[in-house]
Amino acid sequence: MIWRLLNTVLMRIYQPIDRAETLFLNMKNISMMMNQIIFLMLADRVFIAEPKMTCLYTLMFYNVITYCISYVKELIEKEDWSPYVTITERSQIKHLAMSATKIVFEWTKAVTFIVTLTFMLLVFGLEQGLEHYKPSTIYTVITWIYYLATEKLFVQLFPSILKWLHWEVFDNLEEFYAPVILKLFTVCVSAMLILALVPVASWRSLFIASYLNIYLRLKELLRISGPALQLEMDILGPYRKATVEEIKQFDDVCAVCLCNMTRARVTPCSHLFHADCLRRCLKTSETCPMCKRELKFLSVSAH
Ligand SMILES: [Zn+2]
Ligand SMILES: [Zn+2]
Repeated sequence: MIWRLLNTVLMRIYQPIDRAETLFLNMKNISMMMNQIIFLMLADRVFIAEPKMTCLYTLMFYNVITYCISYVKELIEKEDWSPYVTITERSQIKHLAMSATKIVFEWTKAVTFIVTLTFMLLVFGLEQGLEHYKPSTIYTVITWIYYLATEKLFVQLFPSILKWLHWEVFDNLEEFYAPVILKLFTVCVSAMLILALVPVASWRSLFIASYLNIYLRLKELLRISGPALQLEMDILGPYRKATVEEIKQFDDVCAVCLCNMTRARVTPCSHLFHADCLRRCLKTSETCPMCKRELKFLSVSAH
């Protein structure tokens, strides 16, 4: 009775905090930047004897590198190189004001890029300025990996890296595994640094770091990324993996994408599909893509 009352009271108190936390997590750029700053500050204290603002310089460098990479990426992916904007997509008539804006805008971006590159060359190549900035190798490695694991540009690339590995464990769910892996990783490294600082740092700073970099990220993992992955895994749960002999015996392409199969899932009606193809089909209807039988009833009767 007392427990239940206490529980209700605590839930009441926690509700507005929970809303604020969700709002904070939804402001992805700001909350990630907070995590990066806190992580760099922790790393400063663990790895550098005289921290003197190293974290801010480091974050600035990493942002500059990211900016340069994203600009180059944009140039590579760019299809429309014409400086003009036409009135509609198919018309040949040029929209003068829009074209002028576009030219100025593209120029500004190019100039910013060149200025940034020059600045980077001066700092790193010729070692001008920044007398106090002396990061150790381990500091750079750890902070750069953490930065990669949190920065949007690289986070978006991570599922393709996982796909390229072709690991069977992922079962074509790389897109859903990627955020879970990255979040677990960032939480673990933050926790290690916080533990290393327990004897020296003030409890207040450690509490803030644990709250923002561990508690909130774990909360996000358990509420969003984790359940999203579980949901996808559950869709394929009732369909077992085909053995090598079964695939050989079946000797056919996947009926959904018409590509060869090296791995497959078997439906209760004994049809083989790629795990990914089957999952996509089951999201829209629960029938076998080949024979159109209701898989839900078949899988129940098969148990
Ligand atoms: Zn397929
Ligand atoms: Zn079938």
